[in-house]
Amino acid sequence: MRRTESELDKMRRAGRVVAEILERTRAAIRPGITTLELDAVSREVIERRGARSNFLGYHGFPATICTSPNDMIVHGIPGSYVLEEGDIISIDCGAIVEGYHGDAAYTAPVGTVSAAAARLMEVTRHSLSAAIDELHEGNRLHEVGAAVQRVAEEAGYSVVRNYVGHGIGTAMHEAPSVPNYWPGSPGPKLKVGNVLAVEPMVNAGKPETVELPDGWSVVTADGSLSAHFEHTIAVTEKGPEVFTMADV
Ligand code: MG
Ligand code: MG
Repeated sequence: MRRTESELDKMRRAGRVVAEILERTRAAIRPGITTLELDAVSREVIERRGARSNFLGYHGFPATICTSPNDMIVHGIPGSYVLEEGDIISIDCGAIVEGYHGDAAYTAPVGTVSAAAARLMEVTRHSLSAAIDELHEGNRLHEVGAAVQRVAEEAGYSVVRNYVGHGIGTAMHEAPSVPNYWPGSPGPKLKVGNVLAVEPMVNAGKPETVELPDGWSVVTADGSLSAHFEHTIAVTEKGPEVFTMADV
């Protein structure tokens, strides 16, 4: 799908709302806060900016963000979990503006964390940067995942296979899938107007995942820590444009 310039403008606006959710939730993270309180921070931003949540009600999901601590990879439900000093917490969030979606995620430390946890977050963040650098017209889609995999595996980590990034536009999840690994073929050529949500999920241990009985939360099968970073990015004539980052 190639978006027109007026569609891209709507996605830029959605992205700015998502960027504010990223910033506000990040500023609220501290030992003692619950994940439900972090959801309230996101709800306030969405409401104040006149946006809508794309997470709330998605297949029945009960909140506007996903909150996934420590060995939880993605899709954690905000609730009574109290963040503790030394945790890492992954926050996945999104918003809809004028029918167009933004989607982004990050993993942050709660207070002071171990050097191992800090390194995992830094490498995962770097793997997203390396992936974004591939989003140029004419490149092949699967170079994106190859870049993630190269960065993660060179650091001794593994990339989750069971969950992937995606196209995004008038729905949160659109074709194509954006694997975070080389799937064995180069995939389609990237074109100006393509918009993708690229979201490496990197495990300190092995890549296998387990879904918990709540039907949402996904954890590492081996109990190792996991980090998750995501942005919504357009392929433009000037190169990759990240929509879900504050203009700084
Ligand atoms: Mg997301
Ligand atoms: Mg996503």
